[in-house]
Amino acid sequence: MPRRELVTHPHPVLRRKAAPVARVDASIRDLVAEMFEIMAAEEGIGLAAPQVGESLRVFVTGERAGDEGEAPVPARAFINPVLTAMEGELAPHEEGCLSLPGIRGTIRRPPKVTIEAMDLEGKPFTLTSDAFCARVWQHEFDHLEGIMIIDRMSTLDRIRVRKALKELEADG
Ligand SMILES: [Zn+2]
Repeated sequence: MPRRELVTHPHPVLRRKAAPVARVDASIRDLVAEMFEIMAAEEGIGLAAPQVGESLRVFVTGERAGDEGEAPVPARAFINPVLTAMEGELAPHEEGCLSLPGIRGTIRRPPKVTIEAMDLEGKPFTLTSDAFCARVWQHEFDHLEGIMIIDRMSTLDRIRVRKALKELEADG
């Protein structure tokens, strides 16, 4: 079976609403293992299944701190995640995305989030974070909805990244 690869904009899988995982089985555990490998190789802090060409509601986060020395994000897999609570005033933070190489923008998100998901044994868990984790979860959850940071950027940022985006789209 061919190994999966990182998918970049404008691949249509990134714009699809991902399907729920019906059963956490060996194929899902294989997918997650591969996602952890690809995320580590690309030095990402999070990776969603659509970013490796699988339109499924799965994402992983990687064990490292953010670019600006934020609190470390634990290595964890989230299957069929749901953001059940989003709290606090929208806070701006610069974000990048492995599927949008060379593009960064300031994204405003609520700082505190509660997430419910299943682990690799299919067991449900709930986590709340008001740290950097909360932002990573929201970014990865967006991928499952077909939303990317270019959709959430300010008009000014969108103008600033227009050339880089055009180049990506020409390559794709
Ligand atoms: Zn991303």
